[in-house]
Amino acid sequence: MTPLLENHLGGRWQTGSGAGTPLFDPVLGTELARISSAGLDLADGFDYARQRGGAGLRALTYTERAALLARVAEALQRQRDAHFDIAQQNSGTTRNDSAVDIDGAIFTLGQYARWGAKLGDARWLTDGAATRLGKDGSFQSGHVLTSQRGLVLCINAFNFPAWGLWEKAAPALLSGVPVVVKPASATAWLTQRMVADVVAAGVLPDGAISVVCGSSEGLLDALQPFDLLSFTGSADTARAIRQHAAVLHHGVRMNVETDSLNSALLGPDATPGSDAFASAMREVVREMTIKSGQKCTAIRRVLVPREHAGAAAEAVAAALADVEVGNPRNESVRMGSLANRAQANAVREGIDALAGEAKCVFAGDLAALVDADPAVGAFAMPHLFAVDDADASRLVHEVEVFGPVATVVPYRDAAHAFALARRGAGSLVASVFTADEAFAERAAIEIGHAHGRVHVVTPAVAKTHTGHGNVMPMSLHGGPGRAGGGEELGGLRALAFYHQRSAVQGPQSLVESILGKAAAFPDA
Ligand code: NAP
Repeated sequence: MTPLLENHLGGRWQTGSGAGTPLFDPVLGTELARISSAGLDLADGFDYARQRGGAGLRALTYTERAALLARVAEALQRQRDAHFDIAQQNSGTTRNDSAVDIDGAIFTLGQYARWGAKLGDARWLTDGAATRLGKDGSFQSGHVLTSQRGLVLCINAFNFPAWGLWEKAAPALLSGVPVVVKPASATAWLTQRMVADVVAAGVLPDGAISVVCGSSEGLLDALQPFDLLSFTGSADTARAIRQHAAVLHHGVRMNVETDSLNSALLGPDATPGSDAFASAMREVVREMTIKSGQKCTAIRRVLVPREHAGAAAEAVAAALADVEVGNPRNESVRMGSLANRAQANAVREGIDALAGEAKCVFAGDLAALVDADPAVGAFAMPHLFAVDDADASRLVHEVEVFGPVATVVPYRDAAHAFALARRGAGSLVASVFTADEAFAERAAIEIGHAHGRVHVVTPAVAKTHTGHGNVMPMSLHGGPGRAGGGEELGGLRALAFYHQRSAVQGPQSLVESILGKAAAFPDA
């Protein structure tokens, strides 16, 4: 039996009891390690994080905490090779795909370190200037944001074991809030190892970071008023969590990031042969195949003027035919496996469901796998679908197939295209490919309310844009409705979740003194 990975809780390493849950290599099928959180005293461990970790972090200024983030990034950088190795073994990803997760994490930490340094020696933030409450100005009101005095429980999805942790932990630690991370079981190893590396580096105050690997049982019961819950995962799990007593009765503040039927929208001017058309096709193929389509931001629906739908489907299918799928240890392989067999089965079911409604334009052949056995590995081949009647189709707008799968959806005119983008019922991102900036502006404003991010690619930025699915810390990540209603990143604004905003009313001298010692939010 493989060894149990330890949990870091209560300022020490602890092994869960029982045989635990095995983690597998999704390509070779071999067992890698086991995880268990059974028998851990969660209430005690959470209290330690709140008391020790919280006090240790709050004793520091923003600049000092920012310096810690930079040292965390350095500690991770030193172990980067080991992290890539774990990702290859436990997530089945190619080096390029692992980089999205691992280097994305280091970049995000570094960015928050740079932003945090600008907040200076303050320990709280101010939101706007003081205002008079009485006629003579002697009694005033100002708003401050002070560090939340609980912990943040980060429950993460399997597809980003590295970035998923640090994109939350960076603004939390900068805000003075201790982090308890519960990684998704299937790929918990990388998260656990990264926490172990940071703990070993002795960078963070005692109790500032904890990791619990294993079942989620009891985690929410251990939450208290002033704790925070940051959840990333499926809409179904989010629904269950929203009903939990901690949320209903303790008012635990939640940020929820769930699934999404993101779209790419080709402008009416993006005719086959145009630069905008070519950019869109490239991006659709990239999005379908990066991390084998296991990205919450991946393009699922390709909205195309109906007269060009056939050409778009042909172009994407031709490019997909060249994608080598298989064992990421083989250098010719561009797309690795899914995270596990359960995900492969779910993707298979999703493909079968879509096939009942849409025409399959391209289906990769499992027999073409490179260096891998389809009977053992958790593979899904790229599949492209197309529908004729975008309005009559339902599943294409509702079912998130979490793999290398997308559907070409024809639209009549701009208003129809915007309505179809909104059929995702709230998405993380839509991209717009056009050379017509007036159209792009109209699209951004028309569909903005249903999206966390609108990503516009004109030919002028075809080579410089950051990618439809890449989540940059400068831009908001999250989305309304089905996407969960959460807001992450987006610069220093992310700190708002980890602070309590409160008004201070009092004598002018007092309000001015408090605001004078604060860092201005969010413009630092
Ligand atoms: P999931 O099954 O919902 O699991 C997410 C996390 O919740 C895991 O850590 C899981 O632990 C835990 N969990 C399960 N049941 C729970 C419960 N009753 N109480 C508390 N925690 C519970 O999702 P997933 O399969 O890992 O991730 C795929 C989904 O995440 C996709 O739909 C994708 O779109 C979405 N996603 C969204 C974003 C975003 O930023 N919007 C980012 C990445 C992924 P176990 O693993 O131990 O069950």
